Amino acid sequence: MSGTEGAMPDIMTKEERSERMSRVKGKDSKPEKRVRSFLHRLGFRFRLHVAGLPGKPDIVLPRHRKIILVHGCYWHRHGVCRRLSIPENKPDFWRKKFAGNVERDRRNILELKNLGWDVLVIWECQTKDEETLKAIVTRFLGVVDR
Ligand SMILES: [Zn+2]
Repeated sequence: MSGTEGAMPDIMTKEERSERMSRVKGKDSKPEKRVRSFLHRLGFRFRLHVAGLPGKPDIVLPRHRKIILVHGCYWHRHGVCRRLSIPENKPDFWRKKFAGNVERDRRNILELKNLGWDVLVIWECQTKDEETLKAIVTRFLGVVDR
């Protein structure tokens, strides 16, 4: 996390602000917690924020050689999501900042794949509905629905 992320833009929606706050407080953002508790229930073992891998990936399942990244729609700029305003204060700065986030994500995912990891990005908006989350995770991990 770079230093500039600590600066709070003046204009944000309530959702943006709450996501921002959850990022500031720590790495355990709510969407990530939802995914983790779901994996637990499925009986998967995983490691968190593994420092030795590109981008310190959120959830690493070493035995399966799989990685799950849980991306906040706002900071990682989820293309199909509508909550993608740009702060009115210093919009150019934020545009550049967001573009940097997207580029960094792209690079990290590419590097992880080159290292032989299977990578899944779960977007914040996909964690809100249990059935959606279940479908995405079970498909990625090859779980047979019981
Ligand atoms: Zn989204």
